[in-house]
Amino acid sequence: MSRKISRRVQRIESSATLKMADLAKKLRRKGEDVISLGVGEPDFDTPYNIKECSKQALDDGFVHYTDSKGIPELRELLSEKLSRDNGIKKKPSEIILTPGAKFAIFLACQTLLEDGDKALLFDPSWVSYKESVKMTGAEVEWCSMNEDLRPSVEEYKDILESENISIVVLNSPCNPTGQVYSEEEVRELVEIALDNDATVLSDEIYEKIVYNRDHYSPASDYQDVVTINGFSKTYSMTGWRLGYIVADEDLINQFIKIQQHSVSCPTSFAQKGALCALNDPVSDEVVSEMVERFRDRRDLLVEGLNSFSEVECVTPEGAFYAFPDVGRDSDMVAERLLRECHVVVTPGSAFGEDSRNNIRISYARSEERIKEALERMEEIFD
Ligand code: PMP
Ligand code: GLU
Repeated sequence: MSRKISRRVQRIESSATLKMADLAKKLRRKGEDVISLGVGEPDFDTPYNIKECSKQALDDGFVHYTDSKGIPELRELLSEKLSRDNGIKKKPSEIILTPGAKFAIFLACQTLLEDGDKALLFDPSWVSYKESVKMTGAEVEWCSMNEDLRPSVEEYKDILESENISIVVLNSPCNPTGQVYSEEEVRELVEIALDNDATVLSDEIYEKIVYNRDHYSPASDYQDVVTINGFSKTYSMTGWRLGYIVADEDLINQFIKIQQHSVSCPTSFAQKGALCALNDPVSDEVVSEMVERFRDRRDLLVEGLNSFSEVECVTPEGAFYAFPDVGRDSDMVAERLLRECHVVVTPGSAFGEDSRNNIRISYARSEERIKEALERMEEIFD
């Protein structure tokens, strides 16, 4: 049978991060002692109190479709959280709960882009932005980062002034670099985008995972910025699939059409668990402990990496990724690490052309495993 696959889908690449996760699982099933530093997800369990709320919801028969935007009480709590934690003043009606923040990004791209449009992304940036843009028929304009893995503002301004850019995606704390941008840096980037009529999507999924840095949400000062966030990273709820998008009502009314005709609503009992994540002080304590553990792991990893003479690692300020320059082609390095050391990392090429010499290491693993990974890496690095 000759089957036609749309050009739109043929243009899309599969996810490099999820590929690394699958690979690690496959090797483990074969009995290999694999250390997976590939996929970016916390290794901690979801806090107990959150799971209990969700279990209770199941027992209570809370198993049907919910409002397509998500349950009103969760949007109410999110509206309070956004005001308290982020300084963002938005009504519950200006929030849509989505099945993961990834789907929120998809909604935004589908709504704001079409054939021939352009989106500005930083090189490097998280793998799914590029493909979400391409799925709409739009193209990506890449803006480089400086040596210290921060946006190159001059180049950014040039692109916005010379090209017709429809959207800009900002991501601080950043996946894959782990850098956190200051309020001044974010304001400058947002103002340049707005001056040039581009919509800013601010992906803040790692907002709570910061080390001695403050997270700044641009929608607190710029009403037109679209904010994306979710429960996956903060509460170790990756498998629950729950994210959200915050925007003005006009945009929300457009986004919701796609949600209604694709996924209907987010999972009912996952939303009940999320209520507890926001409501119960126990969750905050668990999050702080988790961030402390990430900080120790970061220090251990960065020190270890920088002890290899050919590796240079900028200290990450947030999220749980290190993005060292390994001084040579990272596809080859990632392959050798996998084959010879059974350590899974993601090659920098997955995140952009400029990062061919970087690898992304997710340090959401125990200190013992990180130590062991560093020992195994001695085979590859001097
Ligand atoms: N944004 C960034 C920068 C991410 O790293 C991830 C991780 N998958 C997401 C969004 C999406 O997270 P989720 O769909 O699990 O909410
Ligand atoms: N965001 C994580 C990562 O970058 C999870 C996998 C994914 O969805 O890409 O590894």
